[in-house]
Amino acid sequence: MKEIQMVDLHGQYLKIRTEVDEAIQRVIDSTAFIKGKEVFLFQDELSAYTGAGHTIACGNGTDALQVAMMALEIKPGDEVITTPFTFISTIEVIKLLGMKPLLVDVEKGSFNMDPLLLRDVITERTKAIVPVHLFGQCAHMEPIMELAAEHGLFVIEDNAQAIGADYLFSDGSTRKAGTIGNVGTTSFFPSKNLGAYGDGGALFTNDQGLAEKISALVNHGMKQRYYYDYVGINSRLDTLQAAILRVKLKQLPAYHLARQQAALFYDEAFSGIAGLNIPERSPYSTHVFHQYTIRVPREARDPLKEWLAGKKIPSMVYYPVPLHLQHAYADLGYGAGDFPVAEKLSQEVLSLPMHTELDAEQLSYIAAEVRAFFKL
Ligand SMILES: *Cc1c(COP(=O)(O)O)cnc(C)c1O
Repeated sequence: MKEIQMVDLHGQYLKIRTEVDEAIQRVIDSTAFIKGKEVFLFQDELSAYTGAGHTIACGNGTDALQVAMMALEIKPGDEVITTPFTFISTIEVIKLLGMKPLLVDVEKGSFNMDPLLLRDVITERTKAIVPVHLFGQCAHMEPIMELAAEHGLFVIEDNAQAIGADYLFSDGSTRKAGTIGNVGTTSFFPSKNLGAYGDGGALFTNDQGLAEKISALVNHGMKQRYYYDYVGINSRLDTLQAAILRVKLKQLPAYHLARQQAALFYDEAFSGIAGLNIPERSPYSTHVFHQYTIRVPREARDPLKEWLAGKKIPSMVYYPVPLHLQHAYADLGYGAGDFPVAEKLSQEVLSLPMHTELDAEQLSYIAAEVRAFFKL
């Protein structure tokens, strides 16, 4: 059996090697390393795939969040709402820009922002809401968008983990994750569902004025060469990465299918294990399984992780400490007990190997060892 990894980027590369190698060579031959034509082609292709009005590539997913907030002119002292159960970037940029992060707890089934708790958190100083589509499934956007409209707030979707997921509105229409709010952001970090061979990110918006501003902001605030309209940053997607991402974007639907099939295999193998909760599927979203995250009783989580490690099966805890309990964010004034769902999840979650190259033998082996831990 092939060694089991959380993510198998090399196995994935081998299947598209010729095309990727040619793409890389093409960029080197052109020497257009910054703002080469592959970047613009990739932006257009990603717009076509997501249905976003405009896609602006940038250096990474963290910068994408920062630029979204800069573009919307959220000011120091303004409040921005997100959840305590996400990757650090989401809250980091809010803090870096001098804004005040307000947190709202998540739903235990979907791991995403709980819209029912949102209304009570909004104040006069709140300017934006940042829902995160965690682990590959959309947050409950419809009620979030309604509340935002009611209070005149911006919505920035942190879509680093759910590129390609479909959100289903109650009128039956669908939209891709990241194209619903004022701005959506994503990351092409290598292990993401659409991963580059280095850092990369992008912003999505349907607002042309905002798109032009974002394009300037990621390039020093420059519209016309050496004339600066805004104070910007240097955050561009390398042409090499864009060329690689163009090859991988064509594979994305097949990659999602492979992840969804692995997830279904796990679901069936784990059905009937008392004390193991498979990932819940929200009725309003498809799931692209950036992670396959189970919940087990707190006292079983670390022993299960160790048991699997002993069988050469890696697993990961995303995320072991909710953001409000992180040292760097102690000054926000939150404490233990403030977000009970996020706190409980951080002790119960375990993400199993999930990628595009898992084969039947590996999946059967993982499933058998999980069942064995539960004495089945
Ligand atoms: C990966 C990730 C980011 C940051 O992306 P980078 O490209 O690593 O900067 C932001 N938010 C979430 C939820 C992520 O998973």
